[in-house]
Amino acid sequence: MNPALPAGQSSKERKSGVKKFADLHVHTFHSDGTFTPEEVVKVAHKKGLSAIAITDHDSVDGITPSMAAAEKYGMEIIPGVELTAEEENLEIHILGYFIDWKAEWFEDKLKKIRQARLGRIYAMVDKLKSAGVDIDAEKVFKVSGPGAVGRLHLAIALYNEGITASINEAFRKYIGNESPHYVRKYKLTPKEAVDMIIKLGGVPVLAHPRVLGRDDLIARFVEDGIRGIEVYRTEHVPNVMTRYEEMASQHGLLITGGSDCHGTGKGEVLLGKVKVPYSFVEALKKEADNIKMQNENIPPAR
Ligand code: AMP
Ligand code: ZN
Ligand code: FE
Ligand code: FE
Repeated sequence: MNPALPAGQSSKERKSGVKKFADLHVHTFHSDGTFTPEEVVKVAHKKGLSAIAITDHDSVDGITPSMAAAEKYGMEIIPGVELTAEEENLEIHILGYFIDWKAEWFEDKLKKIRQARLGRIYAMVDKLKSAGVDIDAEKVFKVSGPGAVGRLHLAIALYNEGITASINEAFRKYIGNESPHYVRKYKLTPKEAVDMIIKLGGVPVLAHPRVLGRDDLIARFVEDGIRGIEVYRTEHVPNVMTRYEEMASQHGLLITGGSDCHGTGKGEVLLGKVKVPYSFVEALKKEADNIKMQNENIPPAR
C-alpha cells in the first residue's frame, strides 16, 4: 500500500480507473459527531465520496435526514449503526451495515441503551466530583444535545471548562477505559450485538480492531457471526492493514474501511481521509441481501 494514497485505494485500483469511493464509518450529532447529517453529506460530497455509511453510536436518527440531504448530490447513504459490546472488561465496537433502521423493536432497544448512557454520565460526573473535579452533568448535555451522550461529550465539557488542556488529556487523565472514573455502558455481549444486526438484515463488522488490540479474540467474534472487519482506518499504518487483510482472508471476512469522522469532535475533520472503492459497498450489499434472504421475513431495506 502506498501511504500517499488514501487508505483503501491501491495504486492498481487508481490506475484501473476506480472512480467511486465510499467512507463506511461516519458519526453525526445524533451521537458524538459535531456535524449535522446535512453537514456530513455536504463535506462528503466535497471530498468526492459517492457513498457514506452513517454509523452513529446507539442511534439511527441521522440516517433519514442524511438520505434526504444526499438526494441532491446523487450520493448514497448506507444505513448503519455502531453498537458497543463488552467482554472481558473490553469495549468491542460492532458496526452494522444495510440494517432495517426503521424496525420498531430496534428503536425501543436503542432508547433503552441511550437512557443507560444518560445514567452513566451522571455516574461519571459524580465520581469526578468526588475526586474534586468541578464538572456538571448539565454542561455535558449542553455539548451532546439530544442525541446519544458519551464520553467524547464529557471530554469536550471538561476541556470547555478549562479543566483539561485538551480532549485527549480528558481521556488520559479522567475518563479513559482504565480510569477509576470510567463507568460502563449498557451491557451487551458481542453475540447479542451481532444477533441484533443480523435480525435487522444487516452485516455485522468488527470496528477498529487495532483500538481493541486483541487479535486473539477475532476468531471468537467470527464464531459469534461477525462478517467483516474494518481494515482501512487513518491510524492503521500499512503493515497493520496488511495484517488485518490477511486475517480477513483467513476467516473469510469482508473488508471495510472508514474515517470514523466525528466532525471537529476529535480535532481534525477525518471525512475523506479514508476512501474505499465502491466495490466494498457492493460486497456489503450482497452480504446484506443474503442475510435478509436467510431471515426470510425482512424485506430488503432499499
Ligand atoms: P463512549 O461510547 O461514551 O464510551 O465514548 C466512546 C467515544 O470516545 C468514541 O468516539 C471513542 O473513539 C472516544 N474515545 C475513547 N478514548 C478516546 C481517547 N483516548 N481520545 C479521544 N477519543 C476517545
Ligand atoms: Zn464516537
Ligand atoms: Fe468506535
Ligand atoms: Fe465510531
